[in-house]
Amino acid sequence: MRILVTGGAGFIGSAVVRHLVADKGYDVLNVDKLTYAGTETSLTTVKDNASYRFLKADICDHAAISNAFESFQPNRVMHLAAESHVDRSITGAKDFVDTNVIGTFTMLECARHYWAGLSGDAKANFRFLHVSTDEVYGSLGDKGLFTEETPYDPSSPYSASKAASDHLAKAWQRTYGLPVVVSNCSNNYGPYHFPEKLIPLVILNAMEGKALPVYGNGANIRDWLYVEDHARALNIVAERGRVGETYNIGGRNERRNIDVVTRICELMDKLSPKPISHSSLITYVDDRPGHDARYAIDATKLETELGWKAQENFDTGIEKTVRWYLDNAWWWGPLRQGYAGSRLGLLNTPAAPSKEGNA
Ligand code: NAD
Repeated sequence: MRILVTGGAGFIGSAVVRHLVADKGYDVLNVDKLTYAGTETSLTTVKDNASYRFLKADICDHAAISNAFESFQPNRVMHLAAESHVDRSITGAKDFVDTNVIGTFTMLECARHYWAGLSGDAKANFRFLHVSTDEVYGSLGDKGLFTEETPYDPSSPYSASKAASDHLAKAWQRTYGLPVVVSNCSNNYGPYHFPEKLIPLVILNAMEGKALPVYGNGANIRDWLYVEDHARALNIVAERGRVGETYNIGGRNERRNIDVVTRICELMDKLSPKPISHSSLITYVDDRPGHDARYAIDATKLETELGWKAQENFDTGIEKTVRWYLDNAWWWGPLRQGYAGSRLGLLNTPAAPSKEGNA
């Protein structure tokens, strides 16, 4: 099995690559531009494995991607490369349109031409998994869950660009017959998460005794999934998902943002005590524009049709995550130094006071 993974130096992509190489024994070509969000240090456990290879390339570069297909001859593509931070998309949407829309278009076109040249089982079994987010569905009220039938209603430049890329992926299946499967997942957390996102930011700020920024009143709800559960789900969807279908991925772990931050403080009080509780560092900051109130995933289709089930719940996963950050300063230290931590995503960003951003 040869799998071309895009974005394999990022948070979820690196979990996917580690799973495919170390657990499944597959050959992987990781195609990644190494933006600020990508680092090969997330792949130290597999980088010397004979089954792993790396190509530094931009998914918008048609020639480089086309060559990657021809030389690697993949059986499958798992397309994760994206600009992924909502706050950054508010401050500067162009990179999101370039990578998420044009980059996905380029991936689909190169895959289509490569696939058209295959024959027999190689052609019949080829799959292109397009990895996306539940944010394409917009915001839920107090009740209800996102299903695969929920209409698209994106709020941010990030989710709009992902919605566009989902539509392109579906269109390439319907129009050209490319064997595409789409997955839409809820918020991930876990090891190797870039320190600008809510959970790692709060853990690291708590370690350093800095303010723990919470948007608005902290009541926004996210449905959290441990990243290694997502990686296992993506492999299953790529392997057994029906062509042309969407699969929602989520762990049934809804939490208010303030409850996530409070739980991290409790764990930090237990694992790395300070004279006063870490919860005294919680600071409410101005809300993000267009901040969706609630996301929650109905993963019944994935669970019943493909037999996936999350192995971690939020309590087990968040404790693993806090312990990982406490033990792995070698990984996050250099990233944290290179990342100023100023808040992004305010409409008046240039003049905005420098508060730290979160997810
Ligand atoms: P990330 O920002 O951590 O990593 C993105 C990776 O893509 C990085 O390694 C980066 O270098 C690479 N990349 C960016 N632009 C590129 C380009 N033009 N060419 C090649 N490589 C490029 O993102 P993530 O959180 O790991 O998300 C991965 C995918 O999963 C994305 O498609 C995202 O939309 C989706 N997703 C994320 C979440 C989440 O909670 N993080 C939830 C659901 C879906």
